[in-house]
Amino acid sequence: LPPFDPDDPLGIDDLLEPEDLAVRTTVRQWAADRVLPHIADWYERGELPGIRELTRELGSLGALGMSLTGYGCAGASAVQYGLACLELEAADSGIRSLVSVQGSLAMYAIHRFGSEEQKQQWLPRMASGEVIGCFGLTEPDHGSDPAGMRTYAKRDGTDWVLTGRKMWITNGSVAGVAVVWARTDEGVRGFAVPTDAPGFSAPEIKHKWSLRASVTSELVLDEVRLPADAVLPEVTGLRGPLSCLSHARYGIIWGALGAARASFASALEYARTREQFGRPIGGFQLTQAKLADMAVELHKGVLLAHHLGRRMDAGRLRPEQVSFGKLNNVREAIEICRTARTILGANGISLEYPVMRHATNLESVLTYEGTVEMHQLVLGKALTGLDAFR
Ligand code: FAD
Repeated sequence: LPPFDPDDPLGIDDLLEPEDLAVRTTVRQWAADRVLPHIADWYERGELPGIRELTRELGSLGALGMSLTGYGCAGASAVQYGLACLELEAADSGIRSLVSVQGSLAMYAIHRFGSEEQKQQWLPRMASGEVIGCFGLTEPDHGSDPAGMRTYAKRDGTDWVLTGRKMWITNGSVAGVAVVWARTDEGVRGFAVPTDAPGFSAPEIKHKWSLRASVTSELVLDEVRLPADAVLPEVTGLRGPLSCLSHARYGIIWGALGAARASFASALEYARTREQFGRPIGGFQLTQAKLADMAVELHKGVLLAHHLGRRMDAGRLRPEQVSFGKLNNVREAIEICRTARTILGANGISLEYPVMRHATNLESVLTYEGTVEMHQLVLGKALTGLDAFR
């Protein structure tokens, strides 16, 4: 039998191809070099300095729009994309959020629903990291229920004129293009809005206690005039943004486990070396129970992510299955981080260790891309056939 590997107790790596392992190693190394040495400082300052350079480096790695094909995208498998998300989030959820929003929301929307001209105009520069994208769906008064959105686009001759506000938009203040969803006379439509358009502004949201190394913004659209060809032609209705969200949620199923893995590793190392009552705290049964339960949930989550990744690669992943994964893996990841925090005692609350940073980051991850309750309602509806949303 192969020996027991504490990093991979179930032997899940056996499911990976050599190319998958290469992607994982590359992204892990990049995060170790470029993010980990600075992240505590960035987090404390509430900034992501050098975001443009970091984004270009992520573009060089092929991590932006990674599972899309053509237009400079890497055309990687869903499993490889997932592995990259996990490695990025093991450094910080803010970095993974940057990549998710760029690739799975902004680029995915243009790739799936854009015209050939829009794809040519935006995607190669977004894949290289030259242009950052954001995705504006949430509004101050409409989060879980985007059907009530107030931002609207009206026709004026052949032009469109957009008015409204979007809230909590990742990458907003640094974006060169904003994919904005607005109501129109025909239903909800998506627009590729160049952020230098007159009437567009994106003030940054400050005073966050979560995802502090991530840019989060309000989008203000004050009669932004756009040419006819700014609308994404291939979709009308909420199906558009929801299918983008499904793609991004898939990455989060993997990503959240990165935060959990880093916190678990920190707690395991601490438990082995910290001594109380004359012996390492890892020798106490209560600590071992915590570590065993954390490892069980962490690696069950990885197995689930793998399973869903293979379904996505086979074109068989249903939205309800994405909800299943997002609900379980983010909820378990935050529990792992919180338990890790207890093992580190007082040191657990310090930025010297990563666990509290990961735990507070996951508070956002628990809420965005569909709250826990929304995914319970999706599954509840699928199980019972009864719609409990309203
Ligand atoms: P609400 O919808 O007001 O929900 C509040 C509470 O009520 C939740 O617990 C919710 O589950 C519960 N609730 C609501 N309806 C029901 C119901 N029917 N039954 C039971 N419970 C219910 N949005 C974007 O568009 N683009 C982004 O890039 C983006 N980035 C984000 C980054 C961060 C850091 C954060 C925190 C959020 C981001 N969001 C983004 C917004 C995010 O998607 C929303 O916050 C989320 O959808 C929830 O909306 P809300 O905050 O308005 O909460």
